[in-house]
Amino acid sequence: METPDENIIRQQAMANQRNIVSKAASFAKSMASRGVTNKKVIPETKVLRQLSCHGDDSLIPCSQRKESDKFPNSYYCGACGCGDKQGTQLIDLTVDGKENYGKLDYPKVWCPLDMPGFQPYKPSSQEPIEMQNSRKKDIENRMSVEYITEKSKGESIQ
Ligand code: SF4
Repeated sequence: METPDENIIRQQAMANQRNIVSKAASFAKSMASRGVTNKKVIPETKVLRQLSCHGDDSLIPCSQRKESDKFPNSYYCGACGCGDKQGTQLIDLTVDGKENYGKLDYPKVWCPLDMPGFQPYKPSSQEPIEMQNSRKKDIENRMSVEYITEKSKGESIQ
């Protein structure tokens, strides 16, 4: 039987199949936000993304977070379609002596569940009941929708 998160992902996948163009546009938007100087998202937004993907002591990790086969103790998003690559890792890594630029570093980056810190972030209150996700509500209860909305604009530090 499907978990609630799997149900959401299935519906998202159906929506994505209907609109492959928007997925390509999301990737182009991420690359454009990084620019040629490797701009990074502000730390407050990255903290929100880390919570969305990894959870913490009182929040379980996202069901779509997958263990990397290529990078020890690292993870990638199994739902966005970007795969297990150096640039899609969800953990801060050092690769060949250099700080890696991972998925959570892009000023603007897409999450299939529209979770806090990503672009777009969609508050639970704006989603139909069947799409609602308890982890998102937990984060909103901790930090407020106003704060999360402000910090999910994709502002960069450079
Ligand atoms: S990007 Fe979104 S769907 Fe993917 S692991 Fe993170 S929170 Fe989950």
